[in-house]
Amino acid sequence: MRKNIVAGNWKMNTTVPEGVALAKEVNQQLANAKHNCDVVICVPFTHLTSVAAVIDQKVLGLGAENCSEYESGAYTGEVSADMVASTGAGYVILGHSERRQYFKENNEQLLAKCRLALKNNLTPIFCVGEVLEERENGTYNEVVKHQIEALFDLTAEDFAKIIVAYEPVWAIGTGKTATADQAQDMHANIRAVIAEKYGKEIADNTSILYGGSCKPTNAKELFSKPDVDGGLIGGAALKADSFMGIVEAFN
Ligand code: PEP
Repeated sequence: MRKNIVAGNWKMNTTVPEGVALAKEVNQQLANAKHNCDVVICVPFTHLTSVAAVIDQKVLGLGAENCSEYESGAYTGEVSADMVASTGAGYVILGHSERRQYFKENNEQLLAKCRLALKNNLTPIFCVGEVLEERENGTYNEVVKHQIEALFDLTAEDFAKIIVAYEPVWAIGTGKTATADQAQDMHANIRAVIAEKYGKEIADNTSILYGGSCKPTNAKELFSKPDVDGGLIGGAALKADSFMGIVEAFN
């Protein structure tokens, strides 16, 4: 059966020493407390090696926030999936709305990134979600379906390794959370889209996380919904106590 997962997305926050201290604190709190979900932190590229050295990845998984669509070579400033994997990380966020919006990442590039991540044994956390206008004009199910379909060139075996994160763009960093019912409706829609392509078993085994202003105060209600299998957490992942408050929503 699918896993419950809480994953942090640190974005472009913390220096290396600050990030190492935060990772250590999260790892320590997790090691001391019972928790009923997998927990992952996705950190800036610069932090990966140092953070990998101070956490126990049996307790706390580690991921990057992006990787290149290219395998290797003359792409100055890019970081390949192979490089990410060589730090010891096991996950990579792909298709975050900030990457789609500010860096114009498109479906073709995201499929290439996913293929390279999988080739290097990284688990993609693949983000989808509509903008406010699409929520308001009622096209949100179609928009998210189209984003998921970007991966439908993957084999079933490969797709089965993907974690999906539904992050309505209007809820990211805004303090405005989707209601638990809105999240449930979209997660059920995503699962149905996956089932149509890859069958019910793969759809039922795919973890679908909710992201967008998730906090200790709203996590329990969101995670209580049958198709919400955890969260992708931005702002609240930058303090060990608030991140752990969300992890504890599964207790
Ligand atoms: C995110 O960036 O993935 C996110 C969900 O951010 P926040 O929790 O701050 O809304």
